[in-house]
Parts: sequence; structure tokens; C-alpha cells
Amino acid sequence: MSESVNFSEKVLESLDNLFVDGRCPHALLIDGGSELQRAALARLGAKMIVCSNQERTPCGACESCRKADEGIHPDIITVAKPDDRKSFAKADVKKMVADAYLTPNDSDKKVYIISEVQQMTEESQNLLLKILEEPPTYTAFILTSYTANAVIGTVLSRVSRIRLGKSEDTVYGEKAAEVVRALSVAVNSPYEYEKIKATAPMDGNKKLAVEVLELFIAVLRDAVSLKSGGKILLNDFSEQSEALSQSNTLKRLLDMYDVVCGIYRSVDNNPNYTLLSAVLCARL
Ligand SMILES: [Zn+2]
Repeated sequence: MSESVNFSEKVLESLDNLFVDGRCPHALLIDGGSELQRAALARLGAKMIVCSNQERTPCGACESCRKADEGIHPDIITVAKPDDRKSFAKADVKKMVADAYLTPNDSDKKVYIISEVQQMTEESQNLLLKILEEPPTYTAFILTSYTANAVIGTVLSRVSRIRLGKSEDTVYGEKAAEVVRALSVAVNSPYEYEKIKATAPMDGNKKLAVEVLELFIAVLRDAVSLKSGGKILLNDFSEQSEALSQSNTLKRLLDMYDVVCGIYRSVDNNPNYTLLSAVLCARL
């Protein structure tokens, strides 16, 4: 591979830890960072899985490592969204699931790198879930996503995770923060008007809409976490998470979380952003 990407000691250590005592991760999610970093780390993880050296992986010297470096290892298969589509093709995901049962060619294991899962619909993620639940012993999966919030909870519960820090794509502006603060209050208001007023700035502004949805997903995630005795991750919005957690049942919080995640996943397929706030308001 021509490009070189450097990772922190902490990230490399997390990856190494997955291989301690001859173990091998069967499913791994790499999230955060940049797309380039995620892709490079996924390739490194795949190389570690196919490397034939029992003591030290990747050894960098075996035939498998060499083929992995050249990008020609037959047991490292990358699945991604076709260029001409907004999301993964369901047929591609089905084909991968079927192929996953075929034994590897060269190595003891085969690896599927599933690139940028935030572009996979919920329906396709559910197809993927089937194989993650009962994977063949010789098959491993490495998923990348710019945020773990775009991965459905059932898939998330099946994977080890390596976080590359705050995603470069999810830096939010003050305007998005303002909308999220207003929306956090408005969802508990009996007046529809409050929700419409809070979300109106999103209309016709895709960048802002995406920022707001990502942030609100994180706030709801933290509210769910607090409700279940866990802690919060997004300190900037601790006030909002705490208020939502106190004034809603766990079921209501999970319902809202699902609704917002669903809308977030559909953003790329939604050519008409002016309807986003209306859809959000109607379903929350
Ligand atoms: Zn090797």
C-alpha cells in the first residue's frame, strides 16, 4: 500500500490485545477518525488475521503478509457501497453472507472488510447480523463506520470496538448545538409547535441536519445510558441527557433513539431535506 497512516500507541495496543494468546477477533468495528485511517487500520487488522506466523502477527515476512501488503490476498475481501449508489446493495450483502460460509483459500481464516457501514441500510445491517450471530469459525469481519451511532444496536453488541477518537466528520458547530438544546426540551413539550420551531433551521441545510441528527443521537444514547445506570460520553450535553433521562421512560427513550437513527440513516437517500424536520417532528 502506498499511503502511510500513523496510529497512536493506544490504538495499536487495542488492536494487539484482540490477538493475545493466539486469539482472533471474529468481528471488529473501527469507528471515528478519518476514512483513510479507518481503511488503513482495517487492512492492518485483516493482515494480522491472515498472517501465518503463530507467535507474532503480523510478521510482515510470510506469504500471507506479502499478499496482504500488495492487496492481492484472496482471503481478504472488501465489501463497500457501489460508486453509483447511495447505500450498499442488498444483493451484495446477501452474496457476502453466503460466501462467508465457504472455506478460505490460502489462510486459516478469511476476513471481510465491510467498509463505511454508515452507508448500509437497517435492512442490510439485519442481514449482516444473521452471520455475526453464528459466524463460521474461519470467518472474521472488520467493519468501519465514521460513527458507531450509525450501526444498529444488535450489530454493535456483536463486535469488539476500536475507536479512533472523535470523528473528523462529526465536529459540530454552535448552530447544531443550539438546535439540539432546543430539541431536547421540545420533545417533552405537549405542543407540536415547539418541536417544529426547534427543528426548523435544519430544513434545506443538509450539513446542519446531519450534525443535529448525530448530536441528538449521542444525547439520546447518553440519556438511555443514564437511565440504565451507565454514564455519559458527551459531556457538552450532560444537562440535556440528564433532563431527558429524568423525564422519560426507558422505552420512550429507546423509541426516540430508533426514530432518530432511522432518519439519520435515510438522510443520504432523502433528496428532499425540507421534509426532514416534519418527519422528525411527526415521529418523535
Ligand atoms: Zn505474516
